[in-house]
Amino acid sequence: MELKIIQQSTCCNPSTGCCEQDLPVAVIGAGPIGLAAAAHLKERGISFFVLEKGEISANVRTWEHVTLFSPWQYNMDEAGKRLLVNTDWQAPQGEKIPTGKELVEDYLLPLSEVLAPNIHTKHEVISITRGGLDRMKSSSRSLQPFLLYVETPNGLKEMKAKAVIDATGTWGNPNPAMSNGVWLQTEKELASIIDYHIPNIGENEELYANKKIAVVGGGHSAINSLLNLVTLKQKYPETSITWILRKKRVEDAFGGGSNDELAARGELGLRISEYVRNGQIQVETPFIITGIHEQKGVVLKSEEKMLKPFDRIIVNTGNRPEFDIQREIRYEREAVTEAVPAIASLIDPNEHSCGSVPAHGEKELRQPEENFYIVGSKSYGRAPTFLMATGYEQVRSVVAFLAGDREAAENVQLQLPETGVCHSGAGGCC
Ligand SMILES: Cc1cc2nc3c(=O)[nH]c(=O)nc-3n(C[C@H](O)[C@H](O)[C@H](O)COP(=O)(O)OP(=O)(O)OC[C@H]3O[C@@H](n4cnc5c(N)ncnc54)[C@H](O)[C@@H]3O)c2cc1C
Repeated sequence: MELKIIQQSTCCNPSTGCCEQDLPVAVIGAGPIGLAAAAHLKERGISFFVLEKGEISANVRTWEHVTLFSPWQYNMDEAGKRLLVNTDWQAPQGEKIPTGKELVEDYLLPLSEVLAPNIHTKHEVISITRGGLDRMKSSSRSLQPFLLYVETPNGLKEMKAKAVIDATGTWGNPNPAMSNGVWLQTEKELASIIDYHIPNIGENEELYANKKIAVVGGGHSAINSLLNLVTLKQKYPETSITWILRKKRVEDAFGGGSNDELAARGELGLRISEYVRNGQIQVETPFIITGIHEQKGVVLKSEEKMLKPFDRIIVNTGNRPEFDIQREIRYEREAVTEAVPAIASLIDPNEHSCGSVPAHGEKELRQPEENFYIVGSKSYGRAPTFLMATGYEQVRSVVAFLAGDREAAENVQLQLPETGVCHSGAGGCC
């Protein structure tokens, strides 16, 4: 991909120092939601650039071997589709459920091609400011353009924008194994024998075959990791699988089963319950991890007991948003979930399933810093219930607002399938 910086306006006027109208909108992150934001901007004729620290949809690529739980019809943005149908794109069948790889290759990559050359890969945003102002300065603040500091293969670049849409996700910032969320040095030192995402076990059999493996976590990612280990165990029967949960009952992690409207997700819960029942997976629950250290493998301990060392552990305890890049602009996050405050109560995983999140848009996502928005999975903070369809509606509304189309911005609509996996005690989708 060509790393060409968009020619940016330097138009200035004496009173404000800058003419924001002529600047593009910056979208940070080329995941599903960042690309959807860009598609809406393009459709509305608003100039934009997308900054992506890795390759297109770098986070999704790390789980490309995983099958999604929602079918294609929920995984594509409407503006994205409208741009793509004008090309030779073969639209995927709505009812089919893709893998992460298919999501990238059959939708996200083609979409990124339509949006090129305004997407800059290997461009990592390290800081956002309001021009020369830090967070404290109020005078003429909203008249200053945003200034983004961007690490590129050619060095640091400064890029100006009239609005910023932060779609950087949370997948790059996993939670630790420790139940209290603390990243201990002893855990960091074990990095070579801990996986924090959903490892591609089939392609790295030697790391897991006939080994003693533990999976920590009670959500959809943990279930995926466990199912992959069970498949491996069929070929390598000495593989030992331990599932470590802090839930009171393992049944609480099985989810909606046959009542789940997202059949693929219900199916995961049903399969895992069977493997627990027939002893292929040993369960330690409730197990509150209070310590982790190296001793011929990974040793996990709780207040009550210490487990024998594992050769390797897979930590699927969720992810957390990263706020360093917006340290010098004014943003708010809710105290519990670290979500955008106005949506936090809508997505509390103790009360809402993935499918029960009401539609929300620009109004709910608005931040104290005018024209700055956190969207996509990052807008949910640590809540694990985010679905792409929700994010697509978020960015449709935000872009409508930026275009001055208040009516479209306020008219938020969202149709999601009801799913039991994220209900109280289930630990969430991912
Ligand atoms: C295994 C798994 C399965 C899932 N299955 C489904 C499903 O079936 N249906 C569904 O609706 N949802 C599903 N989700 C949830 C969710 O929809 C996805 O996680 C989705 O990828 C979130 O999109 P996003 O654009 O918000 O963030 P991401 O996909 O995480 O994209 C963020 C992007 O921002 C980039 N970035 C990060 N920091 C910077 C920076 N400082 N500068 C520049 N770029 C940066 C990253 O490299 C990345 O490309 C699943 C999630 C997981 C993990």
